[in-house]
Amino acid sequence: MPALTSCLFILLSMVTPQNPPPVYVTLWFDTEDYILPRSDDAAKRVAEMLTRLGIKATFKVVGEKARTLERRGRQDVIAALKKHDIGYHSNTHSQQPTIAVYLQHTGWEDGAAEFYRRESQGAVDVERIFGVTPVCYGQPGAAWAAQAFPALKRMGIGMYLDEGDHIGLDEQPFYFCGMLNVFKMGSNQVRMALSGGASLAEGKTRFQGAYDRLRARGGGTISIYYHPCEFVHTEFWDGVNFSRGANPPRSEWKLPRTKAPEETDKAFADFEEYVKFIKMQPGARFVTAGELMKLYPDRAPSRSFNRTEILALAKAVQGEITFQKFDAFTLSAAEVFALLNDAMNAWLDKNEFPIAVKVTTPYGPTRAFSPPSGRARPTSFTWNAFAEAVRNTAGFYRTHNRLPDEIWVGVDNLPPQDYLATLAAVIEELGARGNKPEQVKIREGRFTTDQYVAKDSTKLWDWVIFPEGFQAPKIVELARLQAWTLKPAILQK
Ligand SMILES: [Zn+2]
Repeated sequence: MPALTSCLFILLSMVTPQNPPPVYVTLWFDTEDYILPRSDDAAKRVAEMLTRLGIKATFKVVGEKARTLERRGRQDVIAALKKHDIGYHSNTHSQQPTIAVYLQHTGWEDGAAEFYRRESQGAVDVERIFGVTPVCYGQPGAAWAAQAFPALKRMGIGMYLDEGDHIGLDEQPFYFCGMLNVFKMGSNQVRMALSGGASLAEGKTRFQGAYDRLRARGGGTISIYYHPCEFVHTEFWDGVNFSRGANPPRSEWKLPRTKAPEETDKAFADFEEYVKFIKMQPGARFVTAGELMKLYPDRAPSRSFNRTEILALAKAVQGEITFQKFDAFTLSAAEVFALLNDAMNAWLDKNEFPIAVKVTTPYGPTRAFSPPSGRARPTSFTWNAFAEAVRNTAGFYRTHNRLPDEIWVGVDNLPPQDYLATLAAVIEELGARGNKPEQVKIREGRFTTDQYVAKDSTKLWDWVIFPEGFQAPKIVELARLQAWTLKPAILQK
């Protein structure tokens, strides 16, 4: 470009009104069908098409699918997928018992250990076959469980990418159990049907709706998912074999019915038009799971809080216990709990609040609260009993990396929300007056973040692979307890 034109160009770009708000589009493929060989070709074809268009997607691969590709000698498919981000989508997907079924009666720690025992081999195989640690995970069908999160971290997986109704926040990315989630995206989860006819036009309209809404609110993320097998089949590979609890041996697995070659070609042609249309929209950018983790970093763990900020948090949680939003980061209710308890613990040593309290990120409690046997709850505690409870509580989450289910004050106990409200009132009083009270009055806390977790119902677990009428109240209860860790993810400016 000649010098003068180049100056003009720079000047013009400076006077252009500010850049349009970014709309990030994450396109992901559950790569799972290890029965129909044509699905292998479909995965390769879609991966190569996107590479040709300069679009990076995320392929969440099932362990058995990766092993099947290896067994069938499909290095060409593996090479095509590897040009994109590789995620994980469980070890065997729909073979019984599926994840939510085998976790339905487990608690937090035994459930996480069992998920790890059954699912980690598939992640190891995906890593061996694709040469990368899977960047994200998402559950098969509706088989979501909170117990998966600590196990996924043990596998080195850093993000949850899927769809479902179990938990969500404002149809945008959020943090749950210390991990970035793109889940329950609602109106920001869009797709185009692969059935030809008006599908492409309708798909474009749906995308446009989400795109316009997000631009109007300053940007955000849209989630789009497919399965490579959808381009070639007319029914899912697992539906024909594992429906309603069926679990035939491998020798009896049936192939699903397939599309005619021209229907497959039409699906690919429509899909190509669809992604080209998305790519053309001003400010729209395709991002992989790995890129989302960079766009939505959790800045809280590097923060510390001063005395004024601690007092403000203590005031806030006396009204409502939930996540707290700041400009560049957010705090979960569990992080607020640990911050206030650490501040109080430090005060007990020095009779003053520390200059800076560092954020720690424990998991939530793991059992519903029960009052102690043979005791009616008192209305207050002595200062000494309260101080001892503060020290013990700090010891608990440092040791177990989670909030206690109950906080013992002598032979009495409090649920975490009442303890936090009581603690916050004490901190506020110390901030105002500076000397400790003789008696600590017990307050009631109002924990509200569990409103973002779905109620248990057969609709929540609506997946044809589950036994008819399947529900998992214990998994939902654990999710509500872990809502202590829920907070919005902030888009990096
Ligand atoms: Zn799946």
